[in-house]
Amino acid sequence: MNLNNYYNGIKMIDTHMHADSRSSEDFEKMYLAGIDTAITCSFYPYKIDNESVLLNHLNRILEYDTKRAGEYGLDLKVALGIHPANTIENTEIIYEHLYEWIENNQIVAIGEIGLEDLTDSEITIFKKQLDIADETNSKVIIHTPRKNKEKVLKEILEILPQHLDEHLAVIDHINPDVVGDAINTDCMLGLTVQPQKMEKEDAIAILDEYGFDKFLLNSDISNKPSDPLSVPKTIRELHRLGYDKEDIEKISHKNAQSFFNI
Ligand SMILES: [Zn+2]
Repeated sequence: MNLNNYYNGIKMIDTHMHADSRSSEDFEKMYLAGIDTAITCSFYPYKIDNESVLLNHLNRILEYDTKRAGEYGLDLKVALGIHPANTIENTEIIYEHLYEWIENNQIVAIGEIGLEDLTDSEITIFKKQLDIADETNSKVIIHTPRKNKEKVLKEILEILPQHLDEHLAVIDHINPDVVGDAINTDCMLGLTVQPQKMEKEDAIAILDEYGFDKFLLNSDISNKPSDPLSVPKTIRELHRLGYDKEDIEKISHKNAQSFFNI
């Protein structure tokens, strides 16, 4: 059996995941369920003593996890940057590498970046990465936290347009509580369907209310409770409920293809 011809359904892109903390079995499941491409983002889930630990993490994603996923058919695209929960003191070497990775077309976005606890160093690092994106015309994937989402999102929406054209940004982990605050920006909005974060029914309710043009879909599978099949489950549910094929294709892959140029 040629697995490349096994799945004849709709093309799917999972726009935000963390491949480094997931197994080969997950990659295989995702591919067999129809996910062709996924974007893996940086986040180091352990203590970071210095910048070389973070640099190792970023290089590992780029060089190793892409290969691991590729062995199961999954085309893994990469977003690298300093996650707000990974703030370090000596950031310069990471910025230098970011310029290099962008220049060599090794990453599709800077990410995930953003704010978590609104500390001064988080805000400084966030602004600097937005400036690098502006300078290099790169996309950014912006994280919003589980707690204080409304307050942190407000701060992000205050800072973002002062540094970067909103058309280059996706604001991720948008949920029913905050979608109204972000819908009138020029940013793309990420819907994360993940246990303890948001159910597929909530994502579908958002799409139903606001339309399919502004949204990207993802699982954010990580070291936290996760479902590697949350994207296909949501897409299949949209089919089952009888949504337009054209709309489903926007959220399953077309919006992501045109936003990330992949
Ligand atoms: Zn993430």
